[in-house]
Amino acid sequence: MKIIKKDNNILVSNNLYDFFDPKEIYIPIFKDGVLNIKSKNVKKGDLLFKNLTNNAFSPISGTLKQIVTLDNQKYLIIENNYKEELNKKKIKYDKEEILNLINRFYPKFKLVKTTDILYFKAISDDIYNANNYFIFQKYQDELLDILDILRESYNYQEVKILLKENDSENINLFSNILGRYPFINILLLPDIYPISNDLVLEKYLKEKINTVTVVELLNLIQAIYYHQPLLECYITISGNILNPVVVKVKKGTRLKEVLNRLDIQKNEAYINNVLGKKQNIDNLILDENISSILFFDDENDDVKPCISCGKCLSVCPMGCEPIFKKKMDQCISCGLCEYICPSNLNLRRKD
Ligand code: SF4
Ligand code: SF4
Repeated sequence: MKIIKKDNNILVSNNLYDFFDPKEIYIPIFKDGVLNIKSKNVKKGDLLFKNLTNNAFSPISGTLKQIVTLDNQKYLIIENNYKEELNKKKIKYDKEEILNLINRFYPKFKLVKTTDILYFKAISDDIYNANNYFIFQKYQDELLDILDILRESYNYQEVKILLKENDSENINLFSNILGRYPFINILLLPDIYPISNDLVLEKYLKEKINTVTVVELLNLIQAIYYHQPLLECYITISGNILNPVVVKVKKGTRLKEVLNRLDIQKNEAYINNVLGKKQNIDNLILDENISSILFFDDENDDVKPCISCGKCLSVCPMGCEPIFKKKMDQCISCGLCEYICPSNLNLRRKD
């Protein structure tokens, strides 16, 4: 595994930018599902679309406008009427009720207990991603409560919060309140990439693991505490721009609208990871699968013949041999081999 050098000149400010008033929201419509529309007027939290794995709720109150197609994906557009009501905080600890709430508001969540320890991945492999700090500051009590509820409901002996050893802010934040939770502890990990991948983590810890992620816990907080789906997401917008920032935004907001507000005129970016490929972002709709938008200038990426340096072999965390196209069934598409390759070859597995 490799330590990726971070450019420390690119820092996100200490302020969170709330982008809670988009003009419109885009709800994805998948082929194998059904629309659940009873009226042109929708309220925040209304169920609008349903298939086997996705329930799409409206993150705003407003009026149904039209269906559009962007990059081969259909979306239902809702125009914001800026009249939302917040639900009151409410928590239930009865196991059956908790499972019902999860099933109702976050049916995607699956936790199959196969070990005694539940690991909470409070880490991110994207070195520029600053979302966790803001999320943990806002929800630290709820996060620990939900972890304790999961431990009890699924009969785990212990929960371990995985943090990177150089993440002093979040280590301090959790350490200060962990005394109230005797079955939750912190486990520090080295800052190596891609340690947050479950397969890499299992290799490092030398055991099978059960994990939950930050996004899963945010969904569970909304379902169990507030009896509603998660309707917002956190996005780090960073790179070679004047003011890198973390934005809290409604799911379904078009990135273009956020960038216009921030006065950022770009149409290509790395999404979630600088080791990925740059993508056109003109039609990008934000949701919980997107955690960072990173703007970096093009480097010289001319493809040249392989010089047999062997770097792609030594860097691979999964023991793949990308240059020989061997053992590629183990590839987790982390991008390290392509990042290190002096010839700029496409090496990762293509699904
Ligand atoms: S072969 Fe796959 S797993 Fe190995 S370094 Fe390349 S992208 Fe990562
Ligand atoms: S890193 Fe690139 S140049 Fe070096 S052996 Fe692998 S494919 Fe060839």
